[in-house]
Amino acid sequence: MKIPFSRIGNEDSYTVEKKDDKYLIDAIFSFQIKDRNLLHSLLKIRGSIKIPCNSCLETVSIQIEEDIEFLLSDGVYKGFHDEFDVVEIFGGVSLEEILLGELELLESGDYHKCESCQNIELDLEF
Ligand SMILES: [Zn+2]
Repeated sequence: MKIPFSRIGNEDSYTVEKKDDKYLIDAIFSFQIKDRNLLHSLLKIRGSIKIPCNSCLETVSIQIEEDIEFLLSDGVYKGFHDEFDVVEIFGGVSLEEILLGELELLESGDYHKCESCQNIELDLEF
């Protein structure tokens, strides 16, 4: 589902669910209009993701509780924003796509290990 950029109003919020074999996610986008072509977005992600352990490839369920702020620009963003990332939108806002991109970042950002691999690591420290 794509929402026309101009259709998003100030203080609008949208709920997006992503639930399948891998994801069990509830997300809320809240928008504030900064400019005619610029929206501030607060994305709250809650839930869990199943991913393979980095050591033994056993499936680990990681809990997600993230609040992410960024800006949405209708078309090319001219300039530079030092506080937030700017996501350029062409032909409508796809909240599912934005959410999926953020989830992929969360998955790749940390080093995930299952409980038994974490325990092995702890044992080695002593
Ligand atoms: Zn493991």
